[in-house]
Amino acid sequence: MEKLYDVIILGAGPAGLAAAIYAGRSKLSVLLIEKGVDGGQISATDSIENYPGQMIEDETGVSLSSRMGLQADKFGVERVRDSIHKVELEQDIKVFEGDKAVYRARYAIIATGAHPRPIGCENEETYRGQGISYCATCDANFFTGLDVYVAGGGDAAVEEAIYLTRFAKKVTIIHRRDQLRAAKIIQERAFANPKIDFIWDSIIESANGKGILQGLTIKNVKTGQRTEIEADPADGMIGLFGFVGNQPNTVMFQGILELDERGYIKTDEEMHTNIEGVFAAGDVRQKSVRQVITAAADGAIAAVHVSEKFI
Ligand code: NAP
Repeated sequence: MEKLYDVIILGAGPAGLAAAIYAGRSKLSVLLIEKGVDGGQISATDSIENYPGQMIEDETGVSLSSRMGLQADKFGVERVRDSIHKVELEQDIKVFEGDKAVYRARYAIIATGAHPRPIGCENEETYRGQGISYCATCDANFFTGLDVYVAGGGDAAVEEAIYLTRFAKKVTIIHRRDQLRAAKIIQERAFANPKIDFIWDSIIESANGKGILQGLTIKNVKTGQRTEIEADPADGMIGLFGFVGNQPNTVMFQGILELDERGYIKTDEEMHTNIEGVFAAGDVRQKSVRQVITAAADGAIAAVHVSEKFI
């Protein structure tokens, strides 16, 4: 019979890692399950500069989350790399079925995060990996010296556009409105960057090319006018990065946990879900501010309330 843990934490992004640190430090037996790399979405973030106390030069999402992981290890958290495909959460013992094994615990903290929403243009799947990407940190290097386009106007789109200027010949942000959603300080940096251009009030209708991404058809949503963007013949291709928001990783919980209309897990302020003994933390839950600090805070709150059950 497999070990029965006090708590299983699913997902090793900032929420899951913070929960692991708190639960481990409370001397619970903790299993942290992650299918990929630690850090979740911040593992694809080039620079973190708004996490309180973080003043390390050139801090990246990877370096910050790797220190969080070491901190969890310090408090005796057990870890496994496994992909969970089925959960049973309604009973007193919570069961997680993975590719490698089945894991059991008295309590569960779901911190599975979110993933990039598709841009929504024609041929997006065809050119994914052939010019279309959703991770500048991972793929910027492939676009060195090329014209690169970014879809979106939020923090991620503008921050990553700035990062992409280190590699690209020019970066053009295509935004569906005439004002950015990104924080003002990030906007100011982008407006001051001579390598960044903007196309306002426009959406990308289709990605075009022959085998690789060579053009875009964009449409002005105010005038209805369509414009064809084509690769410089000397380059032969362009890049397109999608940063139009995120979708929660909750498919596995449909019909089990209460989700909102966009698929985020509903919780109360103590991170309880609708099922006794099951908590959710971080970007996967319904909330208004999605930042590293709010994810970490959620994880801490969930773990504190789990720990209280053992007093
Ligand atoms: P976001 O804040 O939801 O912004 C998504 C952007 O994409 C918006 O500008 C939105 O336009 C646009 N958009 C949405 N659907 C679209 C569509 N179908 N076609 C074209 N454009 C579309 O998402 P995010 O930038 O990925 O950020 C997610 C969360 O992480 C946010 O809470 C953000 O604050 C946080 N974050 C923070 C930092 C930081 O603090 N440094 C960095 C990255 C992310 P509209 O503006 O018109 O709605």
